[in-house]
Amino acid sequence: MTIHKNVSTITIVIVLLILNIFAIGQASQTPTPTDSSSSSAGLPYRPSLDVSAMDRSVDPCVDFYQYSCGGWKKANPIPPDRTSWGRYGQLYEDNLVLLRSILERAAAAKNHGAVDQKIGDFYGSCVDEAAVNRRGLTPIKPQLEAIAGVKSRAGLVPVVAQLQFEDLGAEILFGPGSIQDPDDSDKQIAAVDQGGLGLPDRDYYTKDDAKSKENRERYVEYVQKIFGMLGDSPAQAKANAETVMRIEMALAKASQTRTERRDPYKIMHKMSRADQAALTPNWDWDAYWKALNPPPFQIVNVLSPDFMKQLNTVLAAESLDNWKNYLRFHIANVNAPYLSDEFSTANFDFYQKYLRGAQEQEPRWKRCVEFVDQRLGEALGQAYVREVFSPELKASTLKMLEEIEKAMELRINQLDWMSPTTKQQALVKLHAIRNKIGYPDKWRDYISVEIKPDDFAGNMRKATAFEARRQLNKIGKPTDRNEWDITPPTVDAYYNPQVNDINFPAGVLQPPLYDAKMDDAPNYGDTGGTIGHELTHAFDDEGSQFDAKGNLKNWWTPDDQKKFEERTKCVDDQYSQYVSVDDVHLNGKLTLGENVADLGGEILAYIAWKDATKDLKLEAKDGLTPDQRFFVGFAQWDCANERPEQLREWAVTNPHSPAKYRINGVVVNMSEFEAAFSCKKGQPMVSQKVCKIW
Ligand SMILES: [Zn+2]
Repeated sequence: MTIHKNVSTITIVIVLLILNIFAIGQASQTPTPTDSSSSSAGLPYRPSLDVSAMDRSVDPCVDFYQYSCGGWKKANPIPPDRTSWGRYGQLYEDNLVLLRSILERAAAAKNHGAVDQKIGDFYGSCVDEAAVNRRGLTPIKPQLEAIAGVKSRAGLVPVVAQLQFEDLGAEILFGPGSIQDPDDSDKQIAAVDQGGLGLPDRDYYTKDDAKSKENRERYVEYVQKIFGMLGDSPAQAKANAETVMRIEMALAKASQTRTERRDPYKIMHKMSRADQAALTPNWDWDAYWKALNPPPFQIVNVLSPDFMKQLNTVLAAESLDNWKNYLRFHIANVNAPYLSDEFSTANFDFYQKYLRGAQEQEPRWKRCVEFVDQRLGEALGQAYVREVFSPELKASTLKMLEEIEKAMELRINQLDWMSPTTKQQALVKLHAIRNKIGYPDKWRDYISVEIKPDDFAGNMRKATAFEARRQLNKIGKPTDRNEWDITPPTVDAYYNPQVNDINFPAGVLQPPLYDAKMDDAPNYGDTGGTIGHELTHAFDDEGSQFDAKGNLKNWWTPDDQKKFEERTKCVDDQYSQYVSVDDVHLNGKLTLGENVADLGGEILAYIAWKDATKDLKLEAKDGLTPDQRFFVGFAQWDCANERPEQLREWAVTNPHSPAKYRINGVVVNMSEFEAAFSCKKGQPMVSQKVCKIW
């Protein structure tokens, strides 16, 4: 469970086994304006407050987002290979270019240190498009043959285990892995989670509106196409695609919704292996675990027991041949991005073009950089950190972070709705938060991953199996609290309530998000707000249920809990009214944690900024007062254009609100904003009912 600031920059979403179960994501930005040399030589400079990005013809009290970002939106149409484009996306793209140069150098310089050799060879094997195309679907032949060789239902079990192991997702029936024990966060236990779907969410199967029906029809056509590419006749391919849809439909109906999964108690069902077996008697769990070969264990967290019961029914309802076809599709689908153009294009056309609105596939080099980042991220990350993240930048970022923590302490003490008992616990939790900046103290060791310069698909498989083994081997071991869930170049940040840590990788601590050349006001508005955002996740509807050590344990008095829920209800109601695209409203409950964090984060940043600059005489600049600069700096973190198709998907899957509401939804609740721009009651940016939690 990690809570990220921003998922919109990730174009290829990989569901890491159980890793993401608790994802509370947010992105953050970093600050500290003291070291003018810290902006990396390797990245182009973009200022954190850019007056040309504004549209001053708009009244800030009418639409503050448009006022702050209108110029940027107009000058920055979405590139054809993107489904959204914002300042985070721009930095992400800048990072890709820098990473490409690192990888090209590593690919050329043979024997230049084992780690660099591996990332260079991996990248080199990927960009050799001719070799990848020559191989066609040969790289997945062994898996297809294993499926074809299954002669009995019992024979399915070890094959599924092997396919999942090399896939690292939960697309094949369900996802196995390890997870922190919710009752004892120092321990890792075994876990299995729901999965098995090819569409982005269970709601895609259960909703009955016209668009959802069309999505399903198009998905079946895509599945049919893949079967055709695997050699099935048109009639067979059609029948097999219908089978896949029928199986997935049945699994989706028993899958938990994303909103349900925000409740940590709904995804906590620790049980003995015998009890787990009783949920799904048609699946031989002993044989399954034997095939996966994790460390010995007795207790497993079955996150979604209803799903497992339904799986039992579906297992019996479908013939062995149907299951084999289901597996054939999924193994081809999961691997399609790594296979020849025929497969990767078909996969792109459905998932990125049709569902999310991209017009063109990313050029191969970009995809290859992303694959290396996903699979050998802490090897590539070492080289990245050397280029862009100085010790001075790390120190200045940490300083800003500590200032925001001080503001949070101040706010907690001032809260008029929280009792002293709960306040004391909140402060204990706040002080226990681990601040992780830039990169891990200890790098992951990939020495055992065999990488060949001429075998891209093999490299993917081996690196994936390495990660799957790493996750499984955690079972029964103590939690490693120094571990990171995202790589150093990632333009994002997160809070993990089970570790009680906030993580700001080097990639998110660059201009225009953290801009050492800029005055304090926009940096606090931008990166300070992000830090505050992450901090408040420790106290949102989800994170607040975990204690200082990351155990699922209530530390609130019932009365305070009630008051907290009343206050967050205000935010739920506010965002539920917003329309994302066409007639699609935001899901106020799905986005609640992020919206509360956006609001709380900005309030904390404002307090910290005022405190940090209390002895300075602040001056107006660019026709903006210091307070106005703070808010424009805030708004410009998320200047963005978003495709309607992408917005439609996010309304179902993304816990973050669209850019416009992440800005306007916050300022309408801040009297400091109202004062900064002299807004009047009744204007759109002044809420009639102010929501305030922190
Ligand atoms: Zn967040």
